[in-house]
Amino acid sequence: MSNSGKKKRAGAGNGCVLYKKCGGCQLQNMNYEEQLSFKQAKVIRLLGRFCRVEDIIGMKDPTHYRNKVQAAFGVTRGGKIVSGVYQSASHRIVCVDDCRLEDRQADKIIVTIRKMLPDFKIIPYNEDSGKGFLRHVLVRRSFSTGEIMVVLVTASPMFRSSGHFVSQLLKKHPEITTVVQNINPSNTSMVLGDKEKVLYGSGYITDVLCSYKFRISPRSFYQINPVQTEILYNTAVEYAGLSGKETVIDAYCGTGTIGIAASKLAGNVIGVELNRDAVRDAIVNARLNGVKNIYFNCADAGKFMVEAARAGEKADVVIMDPPRAGSDESFLSSVVTLSPDRIVYISCNPETQARDISYLVKNGYECKKIQPVDMFPHTSHVETVAQLVRRRPARI
Ligand code: SAH
Repeated sequence: MSNSGKKKRAGAGNGCVLYKKCGGCQLQNMNYEEQLSFKQAKVIRLLGRFCRVEDIIGMKDPTHYRNKVQAAFGVTRGGKIVSGVYQSASHRIVCVDDCRLEDRQADKIIVTIRKMLPDFKIIPYNEDSGKGFLRHVLVRRSFSTGEIMVVLVTASPMFRSSGHFVSQLLKKHPEITTVVQNINPSNTSMVLGDKEKVLYGSGYITDVLCSYKFRISPRSFYQINPVQTEILYNTAVEYAGLSGKETVIDAYCGTGTIGIAASKLAGNVIGVELNRDAVRDAIVNARLNGVKNIYFNCADAGKFMVEAARAGEKADVVIMDPPRAGSDESFLSSVVTLSPDRIVYISCNPETQARDISYLVKNGYECKKIQPVDMFPHTSHVETVAQLVRRRPARI
């Protein structure tokens, strides 16, 4: 393992008081070296048949890596206000004061808010009765710029004492740079609703990743472990093997992060993403960095690729980073038709990645490299980057 040393680091769960109740850290019975070995073995089991698997890249310090912390608010039967995570497979809240995966500052802010509620007569929302006001608090902190966003998710838009509440919160935590009220009146398990009101600051924070700036709004998708994300993106760009001339498709591009990171080494980059808000953020991010050779399309990646293949478009490299369910055959078959020289496949689920790589290998590609990266220490999740190269047609 890249991180093995003589000293054994403890798992987050070793000694965690919430160990049994929370369920968030599935591997907490293992120390960190054991976790890395476990994930390495999992990737080899699922992807090892395609090519040799590089040693997993772990973290030097696998604690407090989450830059985004979300806490549900509720009241116990005894009337105590609690905030934290849902107990696994239930809607009972496990009260969290500080979690070893989460950013410390974010946890402190959430505890402060919990303590402020009685003074402001703010009642947490009750899912069963539909009564109450505060549903969740979401805190995002940029580790690089230090900017902090607090999102108060409320069940209704009327926030009577909002000005006073925000000024009290800022007095206790002057490091907060923006506060947003998100309104979620619906009875779903989605944390955030569609409507937002900026209560303080700009309504977003800016993070720096791979020397590029990225704007993060309350609802933007953004990787939660910035230290490992840089490693992941750098590996993806390296696997793309760019010389400055290539046309690159960044499929499932989110807010354009990977495409922007690759842009200075590419001829041009085309990003494809289904979520409209993410595309909007991606356009802002490109502008923020003065990147002029990137274009974004709001579309289903499969449909976009089918049309590109039908129109006879050319792409030298396809970078793809689909959600856990993986890609689909319309996307993969169109990639094969476009026949890029290289495909870089980033995945948070090696099972669906194995299925998709298998399709590509059967259709003219060879898997050359696989790099696992530990993006989520103490959980069972593992991220992998694979490089596939088009096989040259056999000489006759
Ligand atoms: N590459 C980005 C985002 C990866 S997450 C990053 O590293 O930050 C996967 C993304 O795929 C999400 O932004 C999601 O909205 C998008 N997505 C999901 N299904 C899609 C589809 N059918 N077509 C295009 N994008 C899709």
